[in-house]
Amino acid sequence: MQHSRHNKKPLKKFVQVAVPAPLYSCFDYLLPNNADENTLHPGCRVQVPFGRRSQIGVILGHSDTTNVPSNKLKAVQSTFDAEPVLPGELLKLLKWAASYYQYPIGEVVHSAMPALLRKGKPPSVSGQAMWKTGSEPVDPDTEFKRAPRQLQLYRFLQQHEGGASDELLNQTFENWRTAMKSLVVKGQVIKTEQPCLPDAVACAEAGPKLNSEQQLIIDTIHAQPSAYQTHLIHGITGSGKTEVYISLARQVLAAGKQVLVLVPEISLTPQLTDRFRKRLGVRTASLHSGLNDNQRLCAWSTAAQNGAQLVIGTRSAVFTPMPELGMVIIDEEHDGSYKQQDGFRYNARDLALVRAHQAGVPVILGSATPSLESLYNCYNGRYQLHTLKLRARSSQMPRIELVDLCKQKLQEGLSPKLLAAIDMHLHNQGQVLLFLNRRGFSPLLMCHACGWTISCRRCDAHMTYHKSRQLLRCHHCGAEAAVPQSCGDCGSGELISIGAGTERIEQLLKSRYPDFSVERIDRDTTRRKGSLHEKLEHARTGNARLLVGTQMLAKGHDFPNLTLVGVLDTDQGLYSGDFRASEHLAQLITQVAGRAGRAEKPGEVLIQTHHPDHPLLQTLLHQGYDGFAHAALTEREQAGFPPYRHLALLRCEAIKPEAGTAFMESARELLKGFENEAIEVFGPLPAPMEKRAGRYRMQLILQSGQRKLLHQALQPWTQSLVNLKPGSKVRWSLDVDPYDTY
Ligand code: ADP
Ligand code: ZN
Ligand code: ZN
Repeated sequence: MQHSRHNKKPLKKFVQVAVPAPLYSCFDYLLPNNADENTLHPGCRVQVPFGRRSQIGVILGHSDTTNVPSNKLKAVQSTFDAEPVLPGELLKLLKWAASYYQYPIGEVVHSAMPALLRKGKPPSVSGQAMWKTGSEPVDPDTEFKRAPRQLQLYRFLQQHEGGASDELLNQTFENWRTAMKSLVVKGQVIKTEQPCLPDAVACAEAGPKLNSEQQLIIDTIHAQPSAYQTHLIHGITGSGKTEVYISLARQVLAAGKQVLVLVPEISLTPQLTDRFRKRLGVRTASLHSGLNDNQRLCAWSTAAQNGAQLVIGTRSAVFTPMPELGMVIIDEEHDGSYKQQDGFRYNARDLALVRAHQAGVPVILGSATPSLESLYNCYNGRYQLHTLKLRARSSQMPRIELVDLCKQKLQEGLSPKLLAAIDMHLHNQGQVLLFLNRRGFSPLLMCHACGWTISCRRCDAHMTYHKSRQLLRCHHCGAEAAVPQSCGDCGSGELISIGAGTERIEQLLKSRYPDFSVERIDRDTTRRKGSLHEKLEHARTGNARLLVGTQMLAKGHDFPNLTLVGVLDTDQGLYSGDFRASEHLAQLITQVAGRAGRAEKPGEVLIQTHHPDHPLLQTLLHQGYDGFAHAALTEREQAGFPPYRHLALLRCEAIKPEAGTAFMESARELLKGFENEAIEVFGPLPAPMEKRAGRYRMQLILQSGQRKLLHQALQPWTQSLVNLKPGSKVRWSLDVDPYDTY
């Protein structure tokens, strides 16, 4: 007995805690007397004193020693969890991410948790409470004569047949609980619990028999051991990628494993989630921004306990704990929404790959227009490329044609050729989609007498004219202004709107085709909850014969009756300064063209441009997306852009331009202490849009062919930037692998 006690290692006294603060390190605390490393594991939450306040942090590790002097050392105040809320494998991913993206670990750890866990609530798999009227209805007016509160509540519940949640009741009433309790005691109201996840569909729906292209992919992937490997499925729109995902997922689920599916857009999630659920017949957690805090906590916790076998979600779902993770599927892997554009600027696709690598499981990327990065990784053998070249439902690919706009007489930007095509397709019972990535009526109001234009006071940009709301709006900072009656310079009353946005196209279509219903789909027409869904439904059933919209319409939707697609403006994308612009344009054209002729009717695509000879358009048209990708990669290599060289971007914005310059110059100086020969530095320079929302913006670009050497400099540099004096007058951020350089 004594012997063994003697051999026991002394318990570690200190814990390292990640606290949400803009600092790059963890903080050491003393463990409370009743806890030790065997009871309080990494991944558990603790309440700790921090500065003058107290914060909830997450334990990352234990140690015997600390650098904190004993008079400064503080103790953990209380603990929350007996079991870690963030399991070891997730902590590993988060630590990796914090170091890769140079973002404070405490903030990273917190951003991975649902809001209620951040606030100290316990993980919970119970659904939300629902209050319903009892099975024997009473007449409220006589029953609650002397209890007005109960009367109100009862009436309210009568109007909500499905029941009312705490959240809804809190929004409607103050202090409703006492009265509700009385109603429950009398049996006039029943409290039930709504499950947070729907039960699994008992008998899974059968799908189509896979074609030989699809089957080949599945056989190829199955022939390999279940280990980390990235597969890219490059399949044209409608080629049956989703069917391949479902089939792959089925095998993984059958082995008792969990599958994580990432999707870019919330608007696409409901359909896709349903399709997966019905076909696979497993409990499915769907994680997206439409959930309330309770729903999110519940879905997250259920997945963490292996209570949901399938997790489908947008960007942040990459942080869902899944103890039995067996496969990761990333749909539309090229999509920019996987990259978080503020705060912790991670790319969920890239992190999912790291996660799969750490877990030793395969990743399936899919797209009709893969990112150049992913194709590059296929060409160099790092990823396996699989292709689907045929449309699953035997429909043909649409015919694509360029329409030269030069010297044409345009009607609100529409060429005679496109107008004639619209006439014909409507006449032949077809459906038409016009695509324009610009909302509002017109991007510019101008004085016809002197050329005066209206710019945003806070941005280097013009105000967009919104005709239906009769106001001017800046699309960069959201500023609004009244439409002036006369020129601010010469006083002339003749203000003309230059150029067209979706609103103007809608107006043209409505007046030109009064007998057909027009549906405009952009951020302005879909603000109300549910309106996007309604409009898409109109588009899908073919009730709306004319559709006009922004890139919201380009993605993933299936419009079976669509026969003509018109891309109104490509010129902006051809001559943009950003290194990713041509890739975006090619993706957009390919995606939007893929909407035409999805079912039986053949499709036609007309692309308007002033530059029909532009090599990008020519390659895309004659050699397809693959041909474009090869050409574009060669260009990237020559220009030294990703994926050949890696980028990190220091951004800074300041109310006073001098403050920005001072910070950026000190940052540049500081970098000299850390940079190495593998790094090229550009700047500091003004950002392409120098002024936005009243702030002057600058950037410093670091470029390197060797990621390791780039990161060797980034780490000490970012950590000393925090202490840079001019930093107090600016907002700055570091973006590793920036999505764009605007
Ligand atoms: P993608 O994800 O590539 O756009 P989907 O998987 O959504 O393609 O398939 C497009 C349409 O074709 C869907 O309606 C789907 O049900 C159908 N489909 C897919 N594979 C087959 C198949 N092998 N046989 C018949 N129909 C199929
Ligand atoms: Zn004027
Ligand atoms: Zn503005």
